[in-house]
Amino acid sequence: MAELLEICALDAHYGDFQALFGVDLTLVGGETVAVIGANGAGKSTLMKSIMGLVKNRADAIRLRGAPVGDRPAYRLAVDGVSLVPEGRRLFRSLSVAENLVIGGRLKRPGHWSLATVYGLFPVLKERCHAPAEALSGGQRQMVAIGRALMANPDILMIDEASLGLAPTVVKDIYRAFPAIRAEGTAILLVEQDIAQAMGVADRVVCLQEGRVALEGAPGELGREAITAAYFGAAP
Ligand code: ATP
Repeated sequence: MAELLEICALDAHYGDFQALFGVDLTLVGGETVAVIGANGAGKSTLMKSIMGLVKNRADAIRLRGAPVGDRPAYRLAVDGVSLVPEGRRLFRSLSVAENLVIGGRLKRPGHWSLATVYGLFPVLKERCHAPAEALSGGQRQMVAIGRALMANPDILMIDEASLGLAPTVVKDIYRAFPAIRAEGTAILLVEQDIAQAMGVADRVVCLQEGRVALEGAPGELGREAITAAYFGAAP
């Protein structure tokens, strides 16, 4: 299958500090790839680089074969890349429905609409008039994912899907992923919770101090190799 997203030898810097070193990563249509790694490994920087929020070499990232270059974040969204940012970043005083509708303003055609997002997360329909600030952390994450889906992306990027959420809530969030991918959406997931990532991903990429330390299908990667790649311990 042709690559939807292709990242080749990506470096990323914050001033003099280098956060990513020669990162390679590919994503094909409908695939779920999880990027795991400890705090500070560079996971968010990778997401920000893809969205053009951290500058990088013009041809380091290609979308459907074309260099992303300095395409601004809104242009990438139009071109089918949606980000669920760490911390959800909802409009706190706006209702659930209003937050979702804002996500659909790009009017990209596809399966996702207010009705189908409510089908995915029924609790959001029950709370559709509630302001985002009145929601639980899990419900906010559902709104953030729903808002991104409303743009009908080809690639849904989720930064720290389970961060700060109770295990039962995390299960509710992860339960939605098969339905999302069934609609053909590729998912690029940043996750600190290795077990969750392994359970949902076709491939796992482990970053360690800005470099890809390990990559493979969950079934191919041994626990020891993952621990070593994640924590930097000797295998
Ligand atoms: P976390 O799980 O803690 O979010 P991460 O794997 O997402 O970690 P990044 O946030 O990408 O890691 O950070 C990678 C490195 O870049 C870290 O050493 C971090 O301190 C540094 N870094 C991140 N953002 C900035 C910034 N705005 N300015 C300077 N350094 C930064």
